[in-house]
Amino acid sequence: MTSQHERIDFDVVFIGGGPASLAGAIRLMQQARQKHIDLQVALIEKGAEIGSHAISGAVLNPVALKELIPDFLEKGCPVEAVVRDDEFYFLARQKAYKLPLVPRYMHNNGFFIVSLSKFTRWLAGIAEDLGVNIFPGFAGQKVLYADDGKTIAGVRTGDKGLGKDGQPRANFEPGIDLMSKVTVFGEGAKGSLMGDVCSKLNLSEGKMPQVYETGIKEVIALAADNYFPARPANVIHMMGYPLGLNTPGGGFIYEMKDNKVALGFLVGLSYDDPALDVYDQFIAFKRHPFVADIIKNGRVIEQGARTVSTGGYYTIPGLAAGGGVFIGGCAAMHNTPGLKGIHLSMKSGMLAADAILNAVEKNDFSQDSLWAYQDLFETSWAKEEIYEGRNFAQALAKKAPAKLIHLGLQYLTRGRGLQDPMPLEEDFKTLRPFKTGEAGKTPLAGGKSGAAVDGVLYPDKLGGVYLSRTMHREDQPCHLVVHDADLCVTRCYETYRSPCTRFCPGSVYEIEIDEATSKRRLKLNPSNCLHCKTCEIKDPFRNITWTCPEGGEGPGYSVV
Ligand SMILES: Cc1cc2nc3c(=O)[nH]c(=O)nc-3n(C[C@H](O)[C@H](O)[C@H](O)COP(=O)(O)OP(=O)(O)OC[C@H]3O[C@@H](n4cnc5c(N)ncnc54)[C@H](O)[C@@H]3O)c2cc1C
Repeated sequence: MTSQHERIDFDVVFIGGGPASLAGAIRLMQQARQKHIDLQVALIEKGAEIGSHAISGAVLNPVALKELIPDFLEKGCPVEAVVRDDEFYFLARQKAYKLPLVPRYMHNNGFFIVSLSKFTRWLAGIAEDLGVNIFPGFAGQKVLYADDGKTIAGVRTGDKGLGKDGQPRANFEPGIDLMSKVTVFGEGAKGSLMGDVCSKLNLSEGKMPQVYETGIKEVIALAADNYFPARPANVIHMMGYPLGLNTPGGGFIYEMKDNKVALGFLVGLSYDDPALDVYDQFIAFKRHPFVADIIKNGRVIEQGARTVSTGGYYTIPGLAAGGGVFIGGCAAMHNTPGLKGIHLSMKSGMLAADAILNAVEKNDFSQDSLWAYQDLFETSWAKEEIYEGRNFAQALAKKAPAKLIHLGLQYLTRGRGLQDPMPLEEDFKTLRPFKTGEAGKTPLAGGKSGAAVDGVLYPDKLGGVYLSRTMHREDQPCHLVVHDADLCVTRCYETYRSPCTRFCPGSVYEIEIDEATSKRRLKLNPSNCLHCKTCEIKDPFRNITWTCPEGGEGPGYSVV
């Protein structure tokens, strides 16, 4: 927008303040100190604070944390509870059946339950003490390349103070060019910058496409007479109702401090029903008698949503380019069968840090040099763990009974199953058109389960947006780029009845009737956006691109 970009030079810049980047930055500084190497390291985060965009279950497998900070408990790591035991239920419409066996990848005994928001803030304090320059409120907007057009040279942060029309307002501040020898992409699932780099440098060539689940999660304060810690198991996973066996997904309830629980529900975005409303299914799940009894008389104190990359090993892109490495959720570091990615994201950041320090010592930041990270990953426990789930998302996307057969055989053969690798279809391709006669019945917003909301324990979509504390300045260019608004009310409406009004958990997309012309038109509410990125993933016409709004906006999570 302007050529007046201030330039600041660093050795290493981390993009994103999630567990991957924070663990990577800590490891880098620890190792540099040991070797008496002076490094200038920066970390930018688009949220107003570290932790304000962090959302997760979250059961933390402490394996990477123990390697990084062995005395983490003495150092005040904010733990909500230690996992006593796991339970796994199949939910029929009215009943819950406890499975006699909890799958091995869901054994969480002795792990820690944390609020990812609090945990990342604690990690950020440690990183700062080691000398990392942390800049919350700055969104990486554009990747900067060297003259050869393929070596990553840094990142430009977003301009602040542009108006809706793209013109600078009185408080305009141009973005800053953060130049670095190595740029570390830790943007989490569906990273926007990472996506650009991947396609420009062909880093996903020969890999399977990434697939995702969208999770809605909340923290609920339970009533005093409903004491959750009295239960023998404090980690409960559920599948079945309301999605059934043909739509991937399920829910969880984890104990938190002071008689609170973290409750979440994920839907695999390979679903095919154009009428499915993700938020409505979440409420229906909470209304199931088994779940409703656990949370009865409680009050939701925070809610949010985020996607998670679940494609597994075969979707991991090349992990290094000249001047850049890719870590955490944006590089598919996730154990999908176990629904855990924090420890793997942390480990990938730590492995990248080791490769970066090696490159610093050689003063060689080429792709060949940084490829040491890929080699370290391939021989790590992280790879082994992710590898076991290499065909899991593929099996989940199948219908019953094939789904159950594939999952069972994969369980017995540690991931190989009947076909290895199994093909994977991108989520935007899986919606089926409305069937004849169905179209007129489906509401444009709000789902079909009819699950009731009450504004306290069962907030509606807008209530959930309020509980996420998300906010965006109104007078700025819309960060949700709809490439062809006409298509939304023609082909997309006719074929799928505008599914954006149902897959977005934040009521960002509405179809309304223009009073003057009596024609349908798309109405956007970008200030409701929860930064989950479901819209860019699930839109069947790839008509939506999610871009970072100016830094410091979006959700304001503090305990989820
Ligand atoms: C509902 C749900 C439940 C889950 N439960 C668990 C669980 O129980 N246990 C577990 O281990 N894992 C769980 N996960 C997965 C886990 O949350 C992720 O694996 C992990 O957070 C990934 O870490 P990350 O650092 O790569 O990315 P993130 O945690 O997503 O962090 C990325 C950060 O980068 C910032 N960012 C993004 N783009 C930019 C940019 N351009 N400029 C500046 N900043 C940027 C974001 O605001 C964010 O703060 C869950 C996920 C979901 C959605």
